[in-house]
Amino acid sequence: MSFKPNIIVSKEEFRSFFEGPIIQVHVSEDINSAKVFTAHKNLITPLSLFFTNTLKEWRLWISTQDGIVMLKGGSESFSLQPQLIYCGHLPIKEILTASKPDSTHDWDTEMEAQYKILVDIEDSTLAKLYGLCLYGITCAATFHRIHPTSRILILESTSSIGGPWASHRIFPGLKTNNLWGTYENPDFPMGEEKFSVKKGEHVPADKVTEYLKAFIEETGIDGCLRLGTKVEVVEKMDEGWRLHCNSTSSRDGGGSKFVMSTAKLILSVGLVNRPSIPRYPTSPDFAPKVIHSIDFPHHFPTIVSSSTHTLVIGSGKSAWDVAYACATQPSSTATMLIRPSGNGPIWMSPPYVTPLGLWLEKLVFTRFFGYMSPCPWAEMSGFEGWIRTFLHGTWLGRKIVGAFWGILGDDVIQLNKLNEHPETKKLRPWRDAFEVGNALSIMNYPTNFFDLVREGKIKVIIDEVEKCGVGKEVVLKGGQKMKVDAVVCATGWKSGAGLKFKPEGLEKELGLPTKNMPDTDDAALVEKVKAEIFTRYPFMKSRDTSRLHHPDPSLRHTQTSDPNQQPYRLYRFLIPPSDLQHRSIGFAGALMSLGNASCAYLQSLWLAAYFDGTLPLPEVSSEQLKYETYRDTQYCALRNAMGYGNKFPDLVFDSLPYFDALMRDLGFDGKRKGMVFGMKNWGAESFRSYGPEDYRGLVDEWQKRVEGDGEGKKNV
Ligand SMILES: Cc1cc2nc3c(=O)[nH]c(=O)nc-3n(C[C@H](O)[C@H](O)[C@H](O)COP(=O)(O)OP(=O)(O)OC[C@H]3O[C@@H](n4cnc5c(N)ncnc54)[C@H](O)[C@@H]3O)c2cc1C
Repeated sequence: MSFKPNIIVSKEEFRSFFEGPIIQVHVSEDINSAKVFTAHKNLITPLSLFFTNTLKEWRLWISTQDGIVMLKGGSESFSLQPQLIYCGHLPIKEILTASKPDSTHDWDTEMEAQYKILVDIEDSTLAKLYGLCLYGITCAATFHRIHPTSRILILESTSSIGGPWASHRIFPGLKTNNLWGTYENPDFPMGEEKFSVKKGEHVPADKVTEYLKAFIEETGIDGCLRLGTKVEVVEKMDEGWRLHCNSTSSRDGGGSKFVMSTAKLILSVGLVNRPSIPRYPTSPDFAPKVIHSIDFPHHFPTIVSSSTHTLVIGSGKSAWDVAYACATQPSSTATMLIRPSGNGPIWMSPPYVTPLGLWLEKLVFTRFFGYMSPCPWAEMSGFEGWIRTFLHGTWLGRKIVGAFWGILGDDVIQLNKLNEHPETKKLRPWRDAFEVGNALSIMNYPTNFFDLVREGKIKVIIDEVEKCGVGKEVVLKGGQKMKVDAVVCATGWKSGAGLKFKPEGLEKELGLPTKNMPDTDDAALVEKVKAEIFTRYPFMKSRDTSRLHHPDPSLRHTQTSDPNQQPYRLYRFLIPPSDLQHRSIGFAGALMSLGNASCAYLQSLWLAAYFDGTLPLPEVSSEQLKYETYRDTQYCALRNAMGYGNKFPDLVFDSLPYFDALMRDLGFDGKRKGMVFGMKNWGAESFRSYGPEDYRGLVDEWQKRVEGDGEGKKNV
């Protein structure tokens, strides 16, 4: 390998880079000689011409704090760009000379600076993730903790972290559905004082952002972030993955494209980032703004003002949030427009339900209530197996199950007094509580939403827009006309990852959601797993999935979803069965769960162990593994007629058994409520709820176990 000249000029900033002395770098077992370049850290931008043009072809690079170490004759070859991102993460074991550049960034001093360092690079595990919210950062944090010397890069298309909690996505009054203590990483509790959120309160959106930023800092992954970088194409290579990216960062000039490779890839792009917006015939003279709810924060100051009328299209939680924000302004009103062909109003529950006043989130994570949901991946041995067999396998059990869902639904309707006023009655969900899935949300407003409906400040209309006419006029299909100041489409999100996969056919190989007709083999497998689900759980077949409370009886039995829609087909909702041999790709957060924080934590540990080879996979044939994958994902498609299971797993009462399954794979017992007289404490297990605190310290436990079994960390 030839050396470059001693002085290299970065065209971008006209600064010089100087070749330094030869140093020793420890990579795995080998001691390598390396040259040091000094460079000001501000110049270490992955896209600078210096790196992309001048150094690209060189072999192995490792960056140090303010400089670049070049390995002579390194055996690995990978893209330079990620190396530079990791400059803060290399474990510099020893600095052999002290003449580091001083903090004044005096260029003359830096020119003379010579580093001698001993760097210990663990291995060739280079992981890239993209998507930077709860799931992405949790995966990065766990991976970094287990493999502190591995190189991790997180790519995020927007300019800030947080997904729906990013500063540009939030508006005053937006809060989590979750009460304090349930939207936090188990190993990084959201301190009441530190974040000024108290027990029993819903977490304000800006506090979530603050918390996520603190988490990133605390876990030391801040150096791994690359904001303003959209991954546009994921390409499968013989070994690993190639990502075609587009940098939107102004620092990189904006709009510049580049390619990078990685051995391991986690896609964590979320489910709520690509707005789905209806198009209506619109007169050129229509004056009001028509926006998607994703842009509501940007237009908040103009839309949320006094003496206005806002048309909110949709009936999901975002529609409720927007309607509430608008209608609580002096002399302002809002109309919620709910299309007759859809799923209707979501189940909007008060935080505390049942005659016992149980906290809804806790109820969902209490095993006793979870038993009421048939769940193919739930444990079928011991007490849990017995009770599940009784509840779902016997006539009496099924009566109890039916009664439970009836009581739960009635309770929400009573607590919200939905049937007591003709206007609130329009917000009664059209399907039974069993069908709800994540079309379930929690009232987290400071005042009663339904008072606004009763007072006429929020009007509910079941209809659709025919056209946006002249001036401020919107005409509905039913003929009604109204004058509006703004139209906010809270019409949800496009499904799928929203990027291209190469080569052709890769999407199917990875098991991504599709609207294409399944091929014969797939269709046969779907039928086979459906038969198993209906045999094991007759309630799944016999129940009424129709929109039995639809105000128009003629529409009660019409189809609301695309029959060709196929969901993600991922084993454990995480990995494509086709990639098991390589263990090179995973999908984090490709599901909805009320317990996102615990779910992200458990998924991150599972994926880290899967990637590094320490996770044993079930000793079953690949056909059996595919069968189980189809069974579990098809169950989700069938489970909630109101939910999203035909696109991705939609877990509510099935979340806890899912967490158990991940724990089981990792060799842990998911039942963590202790023992009595040497036996599992089934009383506590059944009636005490689970939250992030129950999984606290699991990554440490895992690390101890892996390090303790004498095998050390394997690498695949
Ligand atoms: C208004 C709203 C309120 C919500 N409230 C709650 C709540 O109270 N409780 C709850 O549990 N959940 C709630 N959710 C669900 C929420 O999505 C999850 O809690 C959580 O954000 C999921 O995290 P994630 O990492 O999977 O996805 P996201 O948070 O969506 O993050 C994915 C990230 O990937 C980035 N990305 C996407 N595509 C690319 C690409 N091609 N290249 C690079 N980056 C990309 C996105 O910009 C985004 O930052 C809410 C969602 C919304 C929209």
